[in-house]
Amino acid sequence: MPKKLTRNSKAYYICEECGFAYKGKVTARKCESWCRKYKSCNVEITKHAVEI
Ligand SMILES: [Zn+2]
Repeated sequence: MPKKLTRNSKAYYICEECGFAYKGKVTARKCESWCRKYKSCNVEITKHAVEI
């Protein structure tokens, strides 16, 4: 499960595998299952990652 993090009263979801942060829980879960399965990141997913 992606870890929920609150910064400046905004919620982010962190992929536990690669550590990227996402605004959407669905995207974070997608990233996490991809990372776990393929042991690499999918650029189509990580392009949605945000800086926190
Ligand atoms: Zn990931």
